[in-house]
Amino acid sequence: MGNAERVFVEEAFKTNWIAPLGPNVTGFENDIKSYLGEDVHIGALSSGTGAIHLGLEILGVSPGDEVLCQSFTFSASANPIVYLGAKPIFIDSESNTWNLSPILLEKAIKDRIENYKKPKAIIAVHLYGMPYDTDAVHEVAQKYDIPILEDSAEALGSSYKGKKCGTFGAIGILSFNGNKIITTSGGGAITSPNKKYIEKAIHLATQARDAAPHYQHSNIGYNYRMSNVLAGIGRGQMQVLQDRVNTRRANHEFYLKNLDGFEGIDFLKEPKDYFSNRWLTCILTPSYEARETIRLALQNENIESRPLWKPMHLQPVFKSNPNYMDGTSEDLFLRGLCLPSGSNLSEIDLERVVGIIKNNLP
Ligand SMILES: *Cc1c(COP(=O)(O)O)cnc(C)c1O
Repeated sequence: MGNAERVFVEEAFKTNWIAPLGPNVTGFENDIKSYLGEDVHIGALSSGTGAIHLGLEILGVSPGDEVLCQSFTFSASANPIVYLGAKPIFIDSESNTWNLSPILLEKAIKDRIENYKKPKAIIAVHLYGMPYDTDAVHEVAQKYDIPILEDSAEALGSSYKGKKCGTFGAIGILSFNGNKIITTSGGGAITSPNKKYIEKAIHLATQARDAAPHYQHSNIGYNYRMSNVLAGIGRGQMQVLQDRVNTRRANHEFYLKNLDGFEGIDFLKEPKDYFSNRWLTCILTPSYEARETIRLALQNENIESRPLWKPMHLQPVFKSNPNYMDGTSEDLFLRGLCLPSGSNLSEIDLERVVGIIKNNLP
């Protein structure tokens, strides 16, 4: 936390705005809008997962539909497809962004259209803060006229060709969960260039109440709106976002300077035109065994590190879902490790991590 969060939260208490809605919610939405750009509309919600759920519903996903989804991601990207009675179809990543492969995406779209049915939406993810190949992925989506839900949960503060992540999709989502680059303890947002989509999202998020003096409903709604207290934390956090991005990038710089090329350790480089918030710094080791040796050596010193996200097509719960793979994400999962990346790491902490890694390579 910075210092401003307390001021906004105390304001909520002082004015007795503890009810779900209130001035901090509007204020937080305006703060996000000024950060992302005036042509994007925002709805603050209780989670990023809820934002994906509403986003897919607004894009028309309904029971029996198919939705294409990046396999290399956190399960929250894919679960809402199932909430809606639709079927996730998983697609592999490409090695220069670790995100959705535009080539496999097109292959999947062609195959689904020819042999099954046209997919209703595409979920593309800026994993670990690295933007996906936005030009290429959106070109494929446009060619087949399929809308993109842009999962920017890990990428607030990242950009592609100078345009902020969270502003590319027909609908975008952000997360303010406790582990993300800024947090409201739990929370999320839905974004769109289409104002009607956001109005509809807020309507659905507040139990789909019609305009009437009594409680009247023409749709099934949800309780997904962000509370005024948490939005107060969010307003304070927006003031330190740039700081957090700078710190995370500095962590990454430190690891890169000290480890890149050392005994076969490799990093995901930032391609030209890409700007990553470097939410988490990840390394690729030469083998699964080398990865585990490092992870356990860190654990022995009471330092937490973690394998990269386990791809969805390898998850027991999705084992029978169709997928279009070339082995990239499975290889990343086996050889990759997320290093300590918090915004409060000291140089001494970072040196300790680097020292342990260097002492534990074959
Ligand atoms: C965190 C996360 C989500 C879900 O956000 P919550 O706010 O935790 O519901 C979705 N997608 C990705 C890639 C995430 O990392």
